[in-house]
Amino acid sequence: AAKAAGKGRFQFYDTHLSDTLLLKLSKEHALRHAIERDELVVHYQPRVDTQSGRLLSMEALVRWMSPSHGLIYPHEFIDVAEDNGMILQIGEQVVQKVCAQIAIWKSQGLLVVPVSINVTAAQLKNGGFYAYLSGCLKKYQLDPSMVEVEITEASVVEHSQVVMNELDLLRLLGVKLMIDDFGTGYSSLAQLHRLDVDALKIDPVFTSEIGTGRDGETIFKAIVSMAKTLKIEIVAEGVETPRQLQCLQAMACNQIQGYLISPPVPAKDIPALIRKNQLFPAL
Ligand code: C2E
Ligand code: MG
Ligand code: MG
Ligand code: MG
Repeated sequence: AAKAAGKGRFQFYDTHLSDTLLLKLSKEHALRHAIERDELVVHYQPRVDTQSGRLLSMEALVRWMSPSHGLIYPHEFIDVAEDNGMILQIGEQVVQKVCAQIAIWKSQGLLVVPVSINVTAAQLKNGGFYAYLSGCLKKYQLDPSMVEVEITEASVVEHSQVVMNELDLLRLLGVKLMIDDFGTGYSSLAQLHRLDVDALKIDPVFTSEIGTGRDGETIFKAIVSMAKTLKIEIVAEGVETPRQLQCLQAMACNQIQGYLISPPVPAKDIPALIRKNQLFPAL
């Protein structure tokens, strides 16, 4: 029916599509306001040493604190933001907020650990990420080792010159690079080795297979052993059970993150975790 209506005429094929589009448009509108009104907040999730239980780093995870809808999680808005380019502003706000927060914690005399920041391919392709981050580090007088960058395999496999250049600059500055959701994309270990990445964060899909004896566990173990040979750190993401923790300790996977240790928490809860430092008893 839409075709019969003729070329050049904008026509919805069904109500479902128009509903989806409307939802997207209203979401975009709301998100733009959220950015303008500074409603984005950053939560932090500890990453700990598998053997000692000590705090190594924290991951910065953005949330939208909507006055009308409460806390909204990134899966509700990151995709939309990537499609319409708002991810660039969101990304800059996150970098700014993280740097400002680290400076506050430092001024409180806390022994702050590095914070890792999620960066999408779109942010790197734009070519302004490095400049913005290094500017913020200067502004808040922070050492580049205080931040780490998490990128997905997808940003790496495309092999865009702009992206490679951004990553080179970050590494030269002394910012650690981590590959997020590893195992779900199509990068090769050789490629990651050439890129000189510091760590691989293995996707929860594989972590959840640990201790089951299924193929996923075999894949997990293979990744750990290859990464070890290449001197790349391994982080198991999505650790939820004591059984998973025990298995990970037995297989020398260096670092873990997950609800078992701590969910992502607001910045105000972080000082207590930093002071505690050891988040579960050492082996
Ligand atoms: P990610 O970087 O892989 O982050 C890990 C996600 O797993 C987080 O979801 C975290 O809350 C969740 N998680 C942590 N521990 C567990 C666990 O034990 N079990 C399970 N099932 N999940 C766990 P969150 O915060 O909803 O973030 C989702 C994704 O949104 C992130 O995945 C990341 O790709 C993206 N994201 C978050 N913050 C930012 C940001 O500031 N910038 C960009 N570009 N993307 C972001
Ligand atoms: Mg991440
Ligand atoms: Mg991940
Ligand atoms: Mg992800």
